[in-house]
Order: sequence, then structure tokens, then C-alpha cells
Amino acid sequence: MTLKGKNVVIIGSGFGGLALGIRLQSRGAKVTILEKQAAPGGHAQQLKAEGFTFDMGPSLVTAPDVVDQIFQSAGKKMSDYLELIPLDPYYRIYFHDGSYLDYSGNTERMKEQLATFHPKDAARYDAFMESSRIMEEAVIKKGLGTKPFMTLKSMISFAPKAIRLGVFLPAYTFVKRYFKDPRSRFVFSFHPLFIGGNPFKAPAVYQMIPWLEKEGGVHYTPGGMYSLIQAFTSLFQELGGHIHTSEPATRIETQNRRVTGVKSSQSFYPADIVVSNADFYHTYHDLVDAGDRKKWRNKKLEKIDYSMSSVLIYLGLDRKYDKLKHHTLIISKDYKRLIRNIFDKKKVPFDFSMYLHVPSRTDKTMAIPGGESMYVLVPVANQLSRTNWDEFSEMFVNSILHYLEHSFGLEDFSKHIIYKSVFTPEDFQKDRNNHLGAAWGVEPKLTQSAYLRPHNRSEDIQGLYLVGASTHPGAGLPGTLMTAETTEHVILTETEGV
Ligand SMILES: Cc1cc2nc3c(=O)[nH]c(=O)nc-3n(C[C@H](O)[C@H](O)[C@H](O)COP(=O)(O)OP(=O)(O)OC[C@H]3O[C@@H](n4cnc5c(N)ncnc54)[C@H](O)[C@@H]3O)c2cc1C
Repeated sequence: MTLKGKNVVIIGSGFGGLALGIRLQSRGAKVTILEKQAAPGGHAQQLKAEGFTFDMGPSLVTAPDVVDQIFQSAGKKMSDYLELIPLDPYYRIYFHDGSYLDYSGNTERMKEQLATFHPKDAARYDAFMESSRIMEEAVIKKGLGTKPFMTLKSMISFAPKAIRLGVFLPAYTFVKRYFKDPRSRFVFSFHPLFIGGNPFKAPAVYQMIPWLEKEGGVHYTPGGMYSLIQAFTSLFQELGGHIHTSEPATRIETQNRRVTGVKSSQSFYPADIVVSNADFYHTYHDLVDAGDRKKWRNKKLEKIDYSMSSVLIYLGLDRKYDKLKHHTLIISKDYKRLIRNIFDKKKVPFDFSMYLHVPSRTDKTMAIPGGESMYVLVPVANQLSRTNWDEFSEMFVNSILHYLEHSFGLEDFSKHIIYKSVFTPEDFQKDRNNHLGAAWGVEPKLTQSAYLRPHNRSEDIQGLYLVGASTHPGAGLPGTLMTAETTEHVILTETEGV
């Protein structure tokens, strides 16, 4: 199948935009990507300052096979573009009582640790992993994750199997069936947080992630996650694609509700096909004329639940802390209340759970000699909380740093910080056009999944497609790469009548 001669404009250069750019350019289309930011990558951008290198967002590479498929779609080999280093453990999880678990794919080591929490939890590990494997097989290997779900019928036909697998249950409820100790329940149910979802509400289909991690590993790319963006960008350009950075799209132009092109801050790009990888709300609300929108009117856009947000604190240290692993999670005492505050009450929490990314534990080039490069990610409510982060962030950040030094036990932490910068929900909104600063887009929940998620093809405008976190199957590195396959499939079906 070919798209020879078709002009395609993709708005946004996140994982989804770049992966689709590679796929369509390989099919003969002439693809131009417009990116608002000064560099490609979306949430996976890089920050370099004072000898430290930081990945600004995603940090865990999972499902290398899904990544490899992007290179294969262009007839290339991933190993020619990218080195993947497997991590062990995948992450260390500290609980509020000081106990911890080194989470890995090693069955025996996992069982030994779970047994110290509750003897029955170790015994149930295999059964849980088997249920996770079955879900992963359905979603990834059998292709449900890349099935477009454009009609209600296509979703209903899958329902009996989904009920049998338990995928409609909330993730935490599903995990509770297997494990007794609250710590074990956390360990196997927190994964929806990685993609902006509420573990107590997101469907258990995300419980495929533990198997995805066990089977494919959790990896690091030297130089950080941004190496993956650089690899995708190089491949896209080698194939003849063009990226224009610092050039936001300002309007998707149409005639008789069919795309004609994209107006940017600097030019007009005629197009047969337009794909938005930008935030879902922003795409319709700000780029598509209200008169062209029958389905996605403002009122309907407002009714959607958008994901949580986060505060990121990028820190350069002049010493090392062995207590920290490459990936470290610190879980608060009242984790359930924290989740309620973030997702239901939209209140900024003062009971912290956080994730620390310390790539300098694996890759010395990320920090100054003897130092550490790290970020602290604190999940917070999106901007329905109406927080004025300009005023509030200093106090918020100081209390987190105080917690890390005085409660968590990073000795003299504040004295060793030689670089610090902070990224807040307001920055997600301003810099990347994320509505309400919701960093993961449309919240992954049952009523916003598959057919009920924004479709990969616009219902309002012919020739307009969507790709990325807010489309099917959803956020995360594997998820957004899979959205590119789904959107490619829909484009080819409609363009070629396949
Ligand atoms: C803090 C954080 C940590 C994460 N950690 C992980 C992780 O460890 N592993 C994992 O798998 N996933 C992780 N994720 C999720 C993952 O990063 C995202 O789901 C994924 O990067 C989203 O990709 P995307 O294709 O939807 O595009 P995005 O990254 O959302 O990029 C969209 C791009 O569109 C651009 N844009 C917006 N409006 C316009 C416009 N008008 N014109 C031109 N360009 C525009 C933006 O500037 C942006 O570059 C994390 C996310 C965050 C926020």
C-alpha cells in the first residue's frame, strides 16, 4: 500500500507524531511535522544545564519489541539506531514504614520479597502473572491495542472475552483478588499511574504492564530517553521527512469540512491528510473552527475527564546517594487518600508519594563527575484544582526537599543541590498546550477507552486524524507508538480503500 504523492502535515512531534511520521513517510507520503517547541520530543524533551542532563518526562523504556516495530516499518534495524541497557531491579519501591521491594522480572527474587510481606502473596505471584500474560497477549500480540474501535459494534464483539479476562474491573480490585498485604497490592496495581490513570478506577487491562515488563524488561538508553527521540528524528529525516520546530500550528484549514492544510505561525502548508499529535482538547478547541465541529463542540470537550498532572523538580547534585536506584518510588502512608485528592477532589496533596529518576546511577555522562542527575516527579491534580503554581510552587517544592532530607533520609540533601529547576502543571499548559495541564491527556478510564476514547480519525472533518496519548490505545511509550500503528491503519484503509 502506498501513499505516494500525498501531502501529510503532522502537528506535534511527540512519540506518536514521530512514529506516525516514520510510518507514513515510508509509505511514500511527503510528511511535514510542525512542532511548537524548539526541539522535537513532546513530553520526552531534554534539559541540559550546568553539566547535568535530564529527561524531562518519560524515563522507563518498556516493550522494546513495540519500539523495534517502528524501525522495522521503515525496513531498518533498531540496533543500528539505539542501544538498550536492561535494568535490574526495574525499580525500588520504598513504603512509609521504611520497608522496600526491589521490583524485577526475576520470579524467585520477587517471591522471596513478597513472602516477607505475606506468605500467601508469594504463592499467588505466578497466578497473577499468568492473568497479566493473558491480557498482554490479547492487547499486544493479538492486536487489540492497535484495533481502531471506530464502531460500537467492534467493541461489543470483544465484550464477552473482556469480561472473562476481568479487564473491566478496576485495576486495584483485580489485584486485591490475588494479594493480601497492602504493599503487594500497591506493587501490582500502581501501573495506571504511569499513564495518568487512577489505579482504583482505571480498567484492569492495564494489569498487562507487569507481564510486559517481565517479558520484555525495563530498559535505559544511554544519554537518556531523549536518545530515542533523536533516533526517531534521524530516521524520519533520513526517509525525507521535514520537521519545523518553534513553529506552532495555528489553524487546521478546511473546505466543506474536508482538510485543505495547516496554517502555522509562519506559513500555510497544503495537505491531503492532517494528523494532530497535539493535546486532544487543544486540537479541537483551538485549531478547528467551531463551525466545523458537530461532535466535538466545546461543551462535549469540557465533559471529558482529563488525566492528572505532575510537578517535576530537576536536581543536579554534587554527591551520590546510594539509597536511590535508577528508578525509585516512595509511597506515602495514606496512598488511597492521596489518589482521592488527585483524581476526585482535585486538591493538591501534602501527603507525598513520588517517583525519582536518577539516570546517573547507570550513566555517568548524565551528571558532573561524582554527582547525580535526578528528577523528582510528584503526581498532583490537574488545573481543575485552580492552583496558582507561580505562587505556590516554592513552598510545595521546599516541603518535598525537606521530606527527602529529613524523613526519607537523604543526608544533607539541600546542601548538595547545585542545580534546580521546576516544571509545574501551568508549564504543561503553557509550553505543550496540555489542557488543564493534564500531562497524560484524556484520562484512561473504562468510559474513555477503546470505542469510547477519541477516535484515531476525526468524526467531524474528513482527512483529519489523531495520534498520541489521548487516542486508542493511550499514553505511555508503548501506548503512543501503538496509536501510530492504529492511525496508519485507518489512514491506509480510507485512502486506499483496503
Ligand atoms: C512526567 C511524565 C513522565 C512519564 N514517564 C513515562 C515513562 O517512564 N514511560 C512511558 O512509557 N511513558 C511515560 N510517560 C507518558 C509518555 O511520556 C507520554 O504518553 C508520551 O510521551 C506522549 O506522547 P504523544 O505522542 O502523545 O505526544 P506529546 O509528548 O504529548 O507531544 C505533543 C507535542 O505536540 C506539540 N504541540 C502542541 N500543540 C501544538 C501546536 N499547536 N502546534 C505544533 N505543535 C504542538 C507539543 O509541543 C508536544 O511537543 C510520562 C509522561 C510524563 C508527562
